[in-house]
Amino acid sequence: MKAMTYRGPYRIRVEEKDIPRIEHPGDAIVRVTLAAICGSDLHLYHGLMPDTRVGMTFGHEFIGVVQEVGPDVRNLKVGDRVMVPFNIYCGTCWFCARGLYSNCHNVNPNATAVGGIYGYSHTCGGYDGGQAEFVRVPLADVGPQVIPDDIDETDALLMTDALSTGYFGAQLGDIVAGDTVVVLGAGPVGLFAAKSAWLMGAGRVIVIDQLEYRLAKAREFAHAETLNFAEYDDIVVELKKQTDYLGADVVIDAVGAEADGNLIQQVTATKLKMQGGSPVALNWAIDGVRKGGTVSVLGAYGPIFSAVKFGDAMNKGLTLRMNQAPVKRQWPRLFEHIRAGYLKPSDIVTHRIPLDDIAEGYHLFSAKLDGCIKAVVVP
Ligand code: NAD
Ligand code: ZN
Ligand code: ZN
Repeated sequence: MKAMTYRGPYRIRVEEKDIPRIEHPGDAIVRVTLAAICGSDLHLYHGLMPDTRVGMTFGHEFIGVVQEVGPDVRNLKVGDRVMVPFNIYCGTCWFCARGLYSNCHNVNPNATAVGGIYGYSHTCGGYDGGQAEFVRVPLADVGPQVIPDDIDETDALLMTDALSTGYFGAQLGDIVAGDTVVVLGAGPVGLFAAKSAWLMGAGRVIVIDQLEYRLAKAREFAHAETLNFAEYDDIVVELKKQTDYLGADVVIDAVGAEADGNLIQQVTATKLKMQGGSPVALNWAIDGVRKGGTVSVLGAYGPIFSAVKFGDAMNKGLTLRMNQAPVKRQWPRLFEHIRAGYLKPSDIVTHRIPLDDIAEGYHLFSAKLDGCIKAVVVP
């Protein structure tokens, strides 16, 4: 089969690989019909995540058709169209029992924090991902769900991560009616977080980025006010001005480790360390939220960042909430919102790319070229 493979930072290509086989009785093999490239894939692409091995296939956002099931699989059958959450989890451990699927204790037990994630380095279990013609889905009775007939395939694809994550980020913000919610980052995750903030009763939603085409999308898709941080000497000062000098009630970080492909080439890991290793967006969040406010961190921070302003966060009495999203927990509500017409997730898709051209897709999405917001990969 054809599969995207990692060759080193900024180098990927499509290679022939063996079609994955059932390795455990609970596995399924899924023929991928749609996959997507995520901002999280960019951290791998940029070489920022530890133990990302040459030859690995990325891709934790995918849907497909069940091709084969192991003898223990009860909930799926060959031919089912399935959406697969990015988390791989057991469904029964202490964490899974509490809906904390992203922290599953049984899958990937050697990691201290994160559970299993498709195509996301050996730190997250070393599973190959779905940017390929086929993918092995472990614990297939637990995560995947048959796509309801009335749900569009691209919408289902976006629910396997970006939409569920944005919604989760807004939930972590504990938004109460009338809150001013600031979202840092107008990528797919930030756009969905901004949209979700309204669904939870926000009174004002402000999206901050430096890419004008993405801010335009934030105005159109998420009906948000926008601020371009490149236009201000100090975006936090501007944010304070706009919020009666109090700061926002909630700030959602949808940026993480330098997500901008152009910047990362200039700002090397060493340089970041010399600057104290301070993650820009997270510190803007801590500075820009009001006292007693909530910072919700969705952005993934690799190990190169160390000096987070935790002293300030403590002194400000902040609630810092963060996690990898437990994707499937959000699905019942998201189906309702989509069916009610409150949400059309696929409106953010800008590119559809054949698997053969996936390297071009990574380049456009990483360097933010050609108006790229979300690229869907078609095997
Ligand atoms: P993306 O790269 O498309 O978007 C990031 C955006 O942030 C870009 O538009 C960029 O211009 C902007 N940006 C860069 N620096 C900024 C700053 N200082 N302030 C404001 N904006 C800034 O990525 P995405 O797909 O939207 O993902 C966003 C983040 O969410 C990534 O870090 C990704 O790893 C993370 N993520 C987390 C989860 C989770 O479960 N918690 C799931 C998916 C993605
Ligand atoms: Zn993702
Ligand atoms: Zn578990």
